[in-house]
Parts: sequence; C-alpha cells; structure tokens
Amino acid sequence: MLPVVALVGRPNVGKSTLFNRLTRTRDALVADFPGLTRDRKYGQATHAEHNFIVVDTGGIDGTEEGIEVEMAEQSLLAIDEADVVLFLVDARAGMTAADQAIAEHLRKQNKTTFIVANKVDGIDGDSSSAEFYNLAMGDVHQIAAAHGRGVTQLLDHALMPVIEQLSEQFEDELAAQIQERGEIDLEQEFAEPEFDENGDVIEVEEPEAVPFEDVPIKFALIGRPNVGKSTLTNRMLGEERVVVYDMPGTTRDSIYIPMSRNDQDYVIIDTAGVRRRGRIRQTVEKFSVVKTLQAIEDANVVLLMLDAREGISDQDLSLLGFALNAGRSIVIAVNKWDGLDQDIKNEVKRELDRRLGFIDFARLHFISALHGTGVGHLFDSIDEAYRSATKRISTSMVTRIMKMAQDDHQPPMIRGRRVKLKYAHAGGYNPPRIVIHGNQVKDLPDSYKRYLMNYYRKALDVMGTPIKIEFREGV
Ligand code: GDP
Ligand code: GDP
Repeated sequence: MLPVVALVGRPNVGKSTLFNRLTRTRDALVADFPGLTRDRKYGQATHAEHNFIVVDTGGIDGTEEGIEVEMAEQSLLAIDEADVVLFLVDARAGMTAADQAIAEHLRKQNKTTFIVANKVDGIDGDSSSAEFYNLAMGDVHQIAAAHGRGVTQLLDHALMPVIEQLSEQFEDELAAQIQERGEIDLEQEFAEPEFDENGDVIEVEEPEAVPFEDVPIKFALIGRPNVGKSTLTNRMLGEERVVVYDMPGTTRDSIYIPMSRNDQDYVIIDTAGVRRRGRIRQTVEKFSVVKTLQAIEDANVVLLMLDAREGISDQDLSLLGFALNAGRSIVIAVNKWDGLDQDIKNEVKRELDRRLGFIDFARLHFISALHGTGVGHLFDSIDEAYRSATKRISTSMVTRIMKMAQDDHQPPMIRGRRVKLKYAHAGGYNPPRIVIHGNQVKDLPDSYKRYLMNYYRKALDVMGTPIKIEFREGV
C-alpha cells in the first residue's frame, strides 16, 4: 500500500505547481482522470526512497453555490482517501475567509495536516506567514513551489517522518502476510554470485520454492465504471453463491474476496464493490483512483477490463502505465464481446493492437461476463502471468541464455570496441529481474536491450509479466 498525500486549498494558491514539482521525477505516472474525478489529479512521487501517491484536489473556496457545492464536496472526498493533507495558502494574498472555512473543515477531519504558505519568493516570508498561525493548525511551512524553495525542507521535516511511519506500518503488515504464506527470503535468494579461482560462477543450491498451488493468487479487477467488473466477479464466484463479502468498505478500500478454482486459491481484489444479487449497489463515488492504484499495488496480477463498445481510453492507458511501472503482471479482458458485428470486432482489434503495442506481453481476451464466454480462459492467463512473474531462475540458466543471445546476434561496437556481456544472475522476481554484467553494457542501444528482453521472454517462457533487465559495468 502506498501512503496518500492530498493537496488542499482554494484555487490559485499553487496546488498544481506543487503537484508537478512533487511528481516531476516520475511524470510518466501522472494519471489524469478528468472525466471521472472532476479536477482531481493523481501522481506518484518518490522522495528519500519512499513512494507515495499525491492527489491534487482542485480548488475549494468555501463560497460555492449550486453545482459548485457538489464539486467542492468531490474535492473534499479526496481528503477522506488521504493519509496526510498539505493545506496550501497564499502568503502573498494573506488569509481569506475561504482559508478559514477550509481550516474549519480540516479540523473536523482528524487527519495529519500541515499548513504550507506558498509564494514566499521575493517577499518577507516570516511576516507574511505569521497570520496563518491564527488558524491554530501548527507550524506554517514556507515554500515557493514555482521555484522549489522550501519544498525539500517541507518533505524532509514534515512529510517524510509521517510517510516513513506509514510505510513501515504497511511493510510490517505485508511482512506478516508473507510470513503467513511462507514465502522465501528475497535477499538471501538473490545475493550476487561468488566466483572460484578461474573466475567462474560458483553455483549455489536453489532454495526451495513454495509450491505454486499453496499460495493464493491475488488479482485486482480494475477498469472504468460500467465495463462489467461486478458482473465478472459474480460470474467468477458462480451464480449460486451468495456473496457475503458485501461489506461497506471505506472509499479507498477494495473488497477482498477469496475463491478457488481447480485447486488453485485466488483472492479477487474487487474495486467495484460487488453487490448481492437483487440489491442495488450504493457507493458515494463509483470510481476511486486511489482505490484502483492501491489495488494494483497490492495485487500479484492486474486484470484490466475494457468495454468493447467503448474501446480503450487515456485513463485505461494511464492505469496500465501505473501497473507497468509497479512491475505488475497484466491480463487484459475486453468485455461485452457478445452481439457485436464482425466489422466492429475487427475494428476494435485493430485499435487495441495499435494502442497496446507498449504492453505486448499481456494476454488479451475477448469475453462476455454476462454470458460467461471466455471467463475460464482468463484464469489460465492469470495463472500463467503469476507463474511467470514468480518463476525461479538460476544464475547458470540466465547466463547460458545471455550467451546464446550474444552468439546469435552480437552486440554492436561502441567507440571502436565491441560491447561484451560477461555473465548474468537473477535479481529478483515479481517481476523477474535479470542483472547482466559486462563491458560498456550501459551504452547498449535500446534496440539491443529489447532484443535481449525478447530473447529472455522466449527462452524462459515468460508471458504476462514485464521482465526487468539491469546492466552493471565490469565484474
Ligand atoms: P492551483 O489553482 O492551486 O492549482 O494553483 P496553480 O498551481 O495553478 O498556481 C496559480 C498561480 O500561482 C500560477 O500563476 C502560478 O504560476 C503561481 N504560483 C504558483 N506557485 C508560485 C510561487 O511559488 N511563487 C509565485 N510567485 N507564484 C506561484
Ligand atoms: P461495473 O461498474 O464495472 O461493475 O459494471 P457492471 O458489472 O455493473 O456492468 C455494467 C452494465 O454492463 C450492466 O448493465 C451489465 O449488465 C452490463 N454488462 C456487463 N457485462 C456484460 C457483457 O458481457 N455483455 C453485455 N452486453 N453487457 C454486459
């Protein structure tokens, strides 16, 4: 689970500017869901080796009328989903009635909140920030988001201690879960190899792997509202079964539904909130980005559902980008494949081919959750993706495959010298990581890196998961 930080404040105080600065280093991950979330933007940030989600809430100014009231309420919902709130005020404009209204609301929330006075560039920060102490919400942190001034201090002194504590808490929970499942010690398994006097890798015995069937595979069922997630969940659980996991989760918690099929245990991470048959689902908000991002983070396999009639949207691509960056295995289901003309089917397939090129390792299924067509095969791909992501690979095997790849197709010359791959070892799994050592390997062109990746994918028979290859100079 990733800690969530919400940026709150009236319009124009500099929330977007701070958002861009915090998420800058990972801009590919900025997920923008305007249609669904009204002004809210979600991105991933990294500081001091901690990852967290940043939510830009759009402005609230406390004077909303009519439709604006609802928009402001939507913004306030983001606070519900957050672990920490950064309350931005404008040091140049001074305190306004809107600031006081927001502060009033925040005080009732009982969330860790920091006041941040922005735009202190070129003015006397101390005297212009002083009045915000009257809000009685603790220290006022001075920044100039546009220039980056004070942002590192804000992160180091205010935000990170809280994030670290939350991350530790999440990690403890995860460690407890792993211990329960009996997974092996990653650090021990993926230590760098040792060498004998001839410089050859000394083979160590492979640790016992947990049998695949003993571990429940957690898959997150994600997708836009109405693509058919609830219908699929009900279908997977079987018509007859009464769903008893109909708990009212908080807005950011998915429902975890255990199930089994052909002796394999699964946990469906249900982001839709499955409803009991005959009951109308009631959720404040049908789609929560934080919920979806958390589900991706917590899953072994991400099952992205699309509606054949709607095609693939930028939001879907953002979600896939996030899953890919998190190193998750991915399976894609195109739902509502029933009752479509052949022409339309062909067109949908062409469109998907074109837009999903960057994720060619993911299996694509055309299904009808309503009629149950193709649902069984989805499980085959989920199993395959999980098995691929957690495949045990030995140092001798990855080195052998590397040599085969190098023999079949030599790396290029760079600055008059042939790039030389020396040996490789496994660096981890979920997703599989391969570390290649050699001379000038960091300078390898992307085309050759892709060639190696595809070679490994074929040789190891790995589908449904990204493979990460790292290059290290020398031995
Ligand atoms: P939002 O509506 O709260 O998201 O505010 P924006 O990030 O869009 O910023 C509103 C305006 O304030 C823009 O014109 C920014 O360029 C400006 N701004 C943001 N941060 C700073 C800052 O640190 N100093 C100054 N002088 N202007 C800033
Ligand atoms: P969710 O919001 O993603 O959970 O979507 P639902 O499962 O609630 O489905 C939304 C609508 O699509 C409902 O009216 C379903 O009956 C319909 N639907 C779901 N799956 C299919 C399908 O395979 N084919 C067709 N034609 N309609 C479907």
